[in-house]
Amino acid sequence: GLPVCECNDCYRGPDCSEFVPDCVVDADSGDPMFLEPFWMKHAASSTIVVPAWHRMSYEFNDGSLISEELKNQILKLHDIIRNANTSGRHIIFGAGATQLLNAAVYALSHDDDPSEARVVASAPYYPVYKEQTELFDSEDFEFSGDTSSWKNDYDPLHSYIELVTSPNNPDGKLRKAVLQGQSVHFIHDLAYYWPHFTAIPAPADENLVLFTLSKLTGHAGSRFGWALVKDEAVYQRMLTYMSLSTYGVPRETQLRVLKLLKVVIEEGEGREIFEFGFQIMSKRWEDIHRIISMSKRFSLQDIGPQFCSFNQGVREASPAFAWLKCEKEEDMDCYNVLKASKIIGREGVMFGAESRFVRLSLVKSQDDFNLLLQRIEKMVRQESNII
Ligand code: PMP
Repeated sequence: GLPVCECNDCYRGPDCSEFVPDCVVDADSGDPMFLEPFWMKHAASSTIVVPAWHRMSYEFNDGSLISEELKNQILKLHDIIRNANTSGRHIIFGAGATQLLNAAVYALSHDDDPSEARVVASAPYYPVYKEQTELFDSEDFEFSGDTSSWKNDYDPLHSYIELVTSPNNPDGKLRKAVLQGQSVHFIHDLAYYWPHFTAIPAPADENLVLFTLSKLTGHAGSRFGWALVKDEAVYQRMLTYMSLSTYGVPRETQLRVLKLLKVVIEEGEGREIFEFGFQIMSKRWEDIHRIISMSKRFSLQDIGPQFCSFNQGVREASPAFAWLKCEKEEDMDCYNVLKASKIIGREGVMFGAESRFVRLSLVKSQDDFNLLLQRIEKMVRQESNII
C-alpha cells in the first residue's frame, strides 16, 4: 500500500494534499526540513542498507567508539568550508549538540576550582541552555542568566561558563564572547555556522566548539553532533561523560552520517548542498523581509550583507529564524498577537528577552514556509490595506 503520510495541521488526506483553510501554522520548531529536496535528488547515492550482523559490537575493531573514517570526513568538510580550525583538536561525537552541551558544561565545571560555575549566555539565547542546566540541577554549575548582568559584576572568585552561539539562535547574528578573565571558560555553539545560514568570515579557532548534523544536512532525527576540543584534560572529562551516559553514539548513526557526508563532500566539490541551502534560505529571508518592511506594527532583526570566505565575497543574509518584534505598546504580548492570526511562534521570554519578541522558524518545509508567509502577508494587509 501507499506509505502513510505524516501531515501537518494544514493538510489532510492520504497524501496530505488537501488544504485545511483555517489551520494553525506552526513556525515554532527549528526542524530543518528545507534540505529534504536535496536528499530526494540524491536518493540513490545517499542510501545505506545495514545487514543485521553488521556493526553489532560496542566498539570498533581498534577498541574505539568513534569511526576513524567519519572523523576524517568531518575534518575534511571543515577544511573545505573553512568554518573551523581543526589542527591540534580532539574530536568527540555526541547524540546531537544537545548531549555535547551538557558534556561540555560538565567537563568545564569539573576543573580544579571547587566553586559552583555560573553558566551564562547573552540574551536572546537558545532556551535549552537554561532548561538543560536547570534540569541537571548540579552542585557544580548553575544557570545564572544573561551574560550582560555579569559583565560589570564579574566576581573573580567564581568560575564562569559562557555559552556563545554564533550565528545566534534566535536572531542569526554572529557573536563573540563577552566575559573576560582567568576563570571564564567558553563553549562556542556553532550549530548554524554553515553557509546555508550565515556568512563565514573566518574559521572558528576557539577552545571548545560544537557542531551538529541537524543543521548541516537536516538529519535532526539521526541525533549526531561533534565537538572540537583543544584542551586535553577537558577532552578527557567529556569522554568520561560520554562513556558513562550512553557509551557513545550508535554505530548505525555513524554509518549513516558517513554516507551523508561523503555525498556532501563529493557533490559539486563540496559546494552543492551549501549553494542549495543558501539559495532557499536567502530567498525565504528576502520574502519575509519584503512583507514585514511594509508594516508599522512588526519589525525584523537587522542582518546586513557580510563578507564570506566560502562565497569569496559579500553575501546577503539567510538566517534560520525571523526574530519578530511587535512594535506597538498594545501588542506587548506578541506571541498571542500572532496566535490570534493563527501563527504559532516561540515566545521571546523563553530566550530571556521581552514578550514583544517572537521567534519564527524559517527552516521547515517549503509548504510550511509558504503558509507562514501567507498568514503574515494577511496580517500586514489588514494593518494598512496597501498591499
Ligand atoms: N544549539 C543550537 C543553537 C540549536 O539551535 C540546536 C537545535 N535547535 C542545538 C544546539 C541542538 O541541536 P541537536 O541536538 O539537534 O544537535
